[in-house]
Amino acid sequence: MDLAAQAGLYVHVPFCRRKCPYCSFCSAPPQPGDLTRFLAAVHSQMRQAAVLPEVQALSFATVFFGGGTPSLLPAEELAGLLTEARRLFSFAGGEPEITVEVNPGTIDAAGLAQLRRAGCNRLSIGVQSLDDAELRLLGRIHSGAEARAVIAAAREAGFDTVSFDLMYGLPNQTPGSWQATLDRALALAPVHLSLYELTVEDGTPFARAAGRGEWRLPGEDEILAMMAASEAAIGRTHLMRYEISNYAVAGRECRHNCNYWRNGFYLGLGPGAVSALGGERRSAVADLDAFCRLVAAGQPVWHESERLDQEAAFRETVVMGLRMTAGVSIDDLRQRFGIDLLAYYRPTLARLLDQHLLMLRDGRLFLSNTGLPLANRVMAELV
Ligand code: SF4
Repeated sequence: MDLAAQAGLYVHVPFCRRKCPYCSFCSAPPQPGDLTRFLAAVHSQMRQAAVLPEVQALSFATVFFGGGTPSLLPAEELAGLLTEARRLFSFAGGEPEITVEVNPGTIDAAGLAQLRRAGCNRLSIGVQSLDDAELRLLGRIHSGAEARAVIAAAREAGFDTVSFDLMYGLPNQTPGSWQATLDRALALAPVHLSLYELTVEDGTPFARAAGRGEWRLPGEDEILAMMAASEAAIGRTHLMRYEISNYAVAGRECRHNCNYWRNGFYLGLGPGAVSALGGERRSAVADLDAFCRLVAAGQPVWHESERLDQEAAFRETVVMGLRMTAGVSIDDLRQRFGIDLLAYYRPTLARLLDQHLLMLRDGRLFLSNTGLPLANRVMAELV
């Protein structure tokens, strides 16, 4: 696969109407004037990036507006960013996949129709739960009914690919209540579904509430029961698991995220966005003020950059690739890095294969059904 012809363009929109208490992403409620200066800075950053040789070497296959809550931007502004991206960057390989993350309660039918007309062809909706008590505990701004309404409106607006996210492992959640959410979600017949376990990140209000014992998080056995319930329920649909947390009907896998898991090339725009270009990974400053100031001065926005040597890049590509149920191709890795996977990991691999956590078939290494719920443990041995 020619990764340079499959590059991803990511635009990080660092605004949310209200900060969810579990969230550690780069996002905050916008102050007056923030949206305008953010948009001006991203337009400038695009023009600056477009003349870089490492960007000119790429052809983009996907665009992803993530956040934060991109749907807080007026639809015509998102369309304007897209028009500018199409003008400045190469999109040589046919119609790109263009995703917008949307939160219920932040966009109406007219906005969705406008996004569709602008060429957006995929929506990722932050549903998280269809249980109003859970949504309130999560501090989400929407109800289950509003989530259902935006899914229906997205389809009405002509989006064939509507994905939504659900979270399990929530405070006070039981395998039974998770099953009920899952059943309600699957009744909406999604073509793509992402299931994430809640992680309580240090420094968030959720971590403090957990420390005070305000609620109980499900234990390990309950989490495993929730994962098993997900597999059983999804196994009765047309959805197939293609990544640890992601399920899709055939052909609707998220191409943008698959590029990350293949350790491909991507250009990230906006504060806190990460780029992988010319063998280097660079993270932009996460602070909106600093980001706008640096862009206006024509200075690099990178706050950190890292160049991995060939062996470290190989290991990273193996670990990320194992997130996908198709795993990694031994031949592709040899061609890309000049390293033989089987020889490189020989004793570790022999043990993991023996424990039936990994499998080898048709020249590919992948996590077994036993290994998938224990992916972190397996990857820690290979990283
Ligand atoms: S909507 Fe998403 S990005 Fe925004 S605060 Fe909530 S979890 Fe974080």
